Amino acid sequence: MGYRFANVDGRAALIHRDHYYDVATISNGSLPSDPMDALRHAAELSTLSSTLTERKAAGLVADVVLGPPVPRPQKSFGIGLNYADHAAEGSMQVSVNPLVFTKFPSCLVGPTADVELRSDFCDYEGELVVVIGSGGKDIPVDDAWHHVAGVTVGQDISDRAVQFAANPPHFDLGKSFDTFGPIGPMLVSTDAIVDFGALRVVTSVNGEERQNDTVANLIFDVPTLIAYLSQITTLVTGDLIFTGTPAGVGAAQGKFLADGDVIVTTIDEIGSICNSCVRVSDHHSPGDRRIT
Ligand code: ZN
Repeated sequence: MGYRFANVDGRAALIHRDHYYDVATISNGSLPSDPMDALRHAAELSTLSSTLTERKAAGLVADVVLGPPVPRPQKSFGIGLNYADHAAEGSMQVSVNPLVFTKFPSCLVGPTADVELRSDFCDYEGELVVVIGSGGKDIPVDDAWHHVAGVTVGQDISDRAVQFAANPPHFDLGKSFDTFGPIGPMLVSTDAIVDFGALRVVTSVNGEERQNDTVANLIFDVPTLIAYLSQITTLVTGDLIFTGTPAGVGAAQGKFLADGDVIVTTIDEIGSICNSCVRVSDHHSPGDRRIT
């Protein structure tokens, strides 16, 4: 049941155990090779996936560098403070409505890409990421799951210095530096997930576990988020929702990311993403002049 979908060299691929299969090749060209286009064919992907054991694999997943399974979504949302424990660790009140920000799609990178830090106040946020399948406007809560293609693992990397550089804080910029959105390693279709609430998001830095919680503890659940967002903007295939991060972020412990740090984020049913941090040049804000 369901399918596991990845991006290999910019081409849509299906995964079965250790192997990947090129979607355009095994469908004899009836399905597109571009991952964004292929995602519009969920039913065909599911059917094709059930035949993989009879097909010739293109290669081993371990031998390739995967790209982001959804490389160019039209929209990419983030949800702030969506776990009570995380809101508490930041001494923030839980919002009565979802706190929504944008992660510019240009920040998305693959599951093993480096993350470029431009200050000493960058932070990790391991998250479940929802991928919209069939789009829509004014989607009812009861129907929302039917509009989800699948889920993947994501890191909502956040430069806290930029996030809190303005008053009130602006989330979009501090969370949208290039490379600040690793996702992957693959999209797992919703019908391949047995118990959605049991999905456990675990983040470690240099082998030290920092975050560990289940999606069941989301304050605003996935159907609520989809219904809310789709009242405002038409959702389309491939749109992403970073659903929020559990407690344990670095800012709450004074443990910001540094050059060479390795972040591993795992959701067992989906897989792991592993991202190394590279400290590059400092960013400067216009207001910095007033400080110096
Ligand atoms: Zn986040």
